[in-house]
Amino acid sequence: MAENASRVALVTGGSRGIGRATVVRLARDGFDVAFCYQSNEAAALELEKEVTETGVRVLSRKVDVRDAEAVRALVAETEQTLGPIDVAVTAAGITRDNPLLLMKDDEWHDVLDVNLDGVYHVCRSVVFGMMKRKSGVIVNISSVAGVYGNATQSNYSASKAGIIGFSRALAKEVGRYGIRANVVAPGFIDTDMTSVLTGQVKDKALESVPLGRLGRADEVADLVSYLVSDRAAYVTGSVVQIDGGITI
Ligand code: NAP
Repeated sequence: MAENASRVALVTGGSRGIGRATVVRLARDGFDVAFCYQSNEAAALELEKEVTETGVRVLSRKVDVRDAEAVRALVAETEQTLGPIDVAVTAAGITRDNPLLLMKDDEWHDVLDVNLDGVYHVCRSVVFGMMKRKSGVIVNISSVAGVYGNATQSNYSASKAGIIGFSRALAKEVGRYGIRANVVAPGFIDTDMTSVLTGQVKDKALESVPLGRLGRADEVADLVSYLVSDRAAYVTGSVVQIDGGITI
């Protein structure tokens, strides 16, 4: 039997990219999985079908992580349908790049609302149940941009740095309740988010990656799988980079 049989995971941004790979990986680990997405219902339904065929239970909902009430309802429905949430992974995220001089207010607020408020809404909604049960694992997806900053991404870098501060504070607050909270900070991963970059920008970024290639979403999901497992039972408050060495 899989290590995590009959445990429940909630993943945001599960329809595509790193979130999708995480849903697939955690299902393979034996988790029943609930996931949300913003608008791409076709991708969500396809994933739901694929994962259901592996024999675990899956629940997908169109829930905007900016909407605190909708996130609370998703958590409640997940717990009623699948059972108490053991693991929460926040992968929903967006970029709206612009140099600060040209940054529009809505580009700033959109990114902060989805990337940082979204994480707050999810963690705020799951933490009470986890505290009552004295167990739970949270993995928030940040970025190397949140650790080192990235030109033209002051909004994104601020949101991702915020996730790190938030998660470390949370790890300190809830460790005594048997809850772990960690951050995964990916570098350049091959998903729809990075596919919009021009060949020139990509080539330049790749020059700085010692491993010489983009990362894959399933490689990030493998790290998440480790962090939520009992193999990482003494790991909390960590920011784990997975970036092919781009930040060395
Ligand atoms: P992606 O391929 O663009 O997928 C983004 C996912 O987030 C989709 O499932 C999307 O749903 C969902 N989403 C977006 N806004 C949402 C909202 N308001 N409410 C609910 N769901 C929402 O992105 P990705 O590359 O996999 O990135 C996943 C996470 O990793 C993000 O937090 C990103 O910042 C971070 N990250 C990515 C990279 C990279 O190189 N790709 C590097 C570092 C960090 P729909 O399908 O409905 O649009």
